[in-house]
Parts: sequence; C-alpha cells; structure tokens
Amino acid sequence: MLKPYRTIDAVLNSPLASITPPAAQDTTDRVLRSTKLEDSIYADLRNDDGSLHQIEQDAGKKLASFPALARDVFQSFYSLLPRRHGEESLSVEARKFNAPILDHIVQSEDFPTLKSICEGRELPAYEAASEFISQTAGELDDLLSDLGGGKNELNTLEKLEKSEEQAQKDLTDLLERIQRCKEHDAQLEQSVADAANRLDSKRRQVEAVGKMIDTSAAQHKEDMTAIVSQAVSAAAEKAEEVQNIIGAWSDEPGKLEKNEVNTGLLDLVRFWVYHMVEVKTVRKIIKNAIQCNLCGDIIESTDRHDFVSCKCGCCSVDGGLDYLRRGFTHSRDDFTELCILEDTKGEFSKGADRKNLAGTF
Ligand SMILES: [Zn+2]
Repeated sequence: MLKPYRTIDAVLNSPLASITPPAAQDTTDRVLRSTKLEDSIYADLRNDDGSLHQIEQDAGKKLASFPALARDVFQSFYSLLPRRHGEESLSVEARKFNAPILDHIVQSEDFPTLKSICEGRELPAYEAASEFISQTAGELDDLLSDLGGGKNELNTLEKLEKSEEQAQKDLTDLLERIQRCKEHDAQLEQSVADAANRLDSKRRQVEAVGKMIDTSAAQHKEDMTAIVSQAVSAAAEKAEEVQNIIGAWSDEPGKLEKNEVNTGLLDLVRFWVYHMVEVKTVRKIIKNAIQCNLCGDIIESTDRHDFVSCKCGCCSVDGGLDYLRRGFTHSRDDFTELCILEDTKGEFSKGADRKNLAGTF
C-alpha cells in the first residue's frame, strides 16, 4: 500500500485535514421523484400483477436496484415533468445503471411517440413500462457486462464507497481527538497517519473502479443504446395497442385511467392471442381484412396503425397494407381470412386459402 502520510504534520498540512465527512444519509435506488398520489396510482396498477413481480424478483438478484427501475420507468412515461433526486442521494447501482438507462430512454427515437400516448394516462403508461421492463430484464446480463465486463463491478464499487466513507469518519474522529489532546501523543499521531493512508488508498480504489465502469459504459454506449431503443420501441407499440383497444371498445375512449371497464378490456388484451401473418416481402398486401365467424362482421384495416375489431369483440385486424396482424379470442377458427395479396407473378390471389400465407395459420 502506498503511504503518502508518514507524519502527523503531513496529514495536518494536507487537504485531508479540512474535510468533513458527509452527513450520514440513506441512499435510494429511485432516480426520479414522485408524489404520494402518483405512488398510490402505481400501487393500484401493480396490484395483482404477479408476472411483473416475478420479473423484478429474478432481476433483483442480479441487480438490487432493478425493482426501482420499473417504478422509475413508469414515472418517466407517465409524469408530465419527471424530476430527479440529487446525485449524492443515489445508490451506486442507481447512479451507474438506472440513471443512464433512463437517459437512454429519453433519447430514444420512439420516446416522443410513447410520451404523447402515456403522459398523464395511467393504463398505457403502465402497460408500456411493464413491456419495457420485461424486455430489459431479458437483456440484463448484457447490460451489466457493458458496465465493466463482469457482473460484480457495481457491487464492488458500492462496498468500496462504504469503506471510503468509514475511513473518512475514522480520520475525522482521530483528528478531533488530537486537537483536544494537550500533550504530545506519539501513538495517537501514528494512528492519524495510518488512518490518512487508509483513506487515501480507499479513495484511489473508488476512483479506479468508478473510472473503469465509466470507460466500459462509454465503450459499450452503442450496445446499450440499441437495447434500450428496442425496448422503448416495444413499449411504444404496447402503449398504442392499449390506446387502440380502449379507443375501439370503451364508451369513453378519452379516459385512459384504471376503471372496471378499462381493466376488463385489458385483461382481455393480455390474454388475447395475437397472430402476426408473415407475408414475404415480394407479396404486396392489397387488402387487409377478415370476417368474424361468430358475428359475421367483415373488418378491414386500411393503415399501419388502424386497429379494427368486430362487433362482438372476438377478432381484430391491424397493420394496414404493411403487415397482417390478427387477434382472436378462442382459436384460429374464430375468423375467415379475406386478405388479398399480390402474388409473385403480379396476379392477385385471395388469401382465403390459408396455405398461401407463409404457413403460419
Ligand atoms: Zn365478431
């Protein structure tokens, strides 16, 4: 160990002599502030969401601050003006992982779209946040290794920062003792020099590990950006879906808050089977339509974001002329396919023969 402080004078003449240890304060994993009202809205939405709970638990074993990330992501989507806690009150994990993820979210291409749907609207915000979290949890190992090549760097830094704090406190205590001491006390003076050296060494370690994490994060910035933008994009789609479903089925489509009718719809959505029909790129979609076999309604989607459901609510079409997306409640026999595709020879073919549709039916 490097020992820059050999005498009491060396310590007293150094900047270490004038430092005051930071007031003991509890750190938080939460990067964003929230009001009591927002917390109770969130708690209400979370109620009964066992799958999000499970995701958080599993991810929390790898990164203690992950559950707080879920809460912050909702806050970031929902709040009109998200405000941050001061850097000094954040835990290491929140500072080095959660905060950069939240930065990446805001800078994502799809964030403005997402925000325009989710701001002040609890259901789309919640469903979108939950989509983001489940995607991110799946990429957690990669994201953590982007921050230092292994999984334990954040943990190491946290421990080192704690020992630095302790070393600082020890030194301050000893310096106070020596000031009160009228006589020359060689042993006490030696302890001061030792404590100063310990603090100096801890500071260097904290700096080295912190720098290593920052360098690694900078090197892997593109990877992180890619993972986060993909998750934001999925979240935006989810928000749009929730908005569409409530818009199509609810009597009060402007109300995107949690009430019995809307959550009933969402339950349906969560269990609704979505089916994406792959259309090979050479096959242009001419018409995107189906007939519901339960109510007989013929429904057509004319635009990429034109989500239409039938009278009885059993089936839906989406995707316009870009892709064929079908929702059904019971089975694929709920509807009859009516799409028309341009075939490879440039002729039109009715999609009623299911084999034509890339075998996905
Ligand atoms: Zn129907």
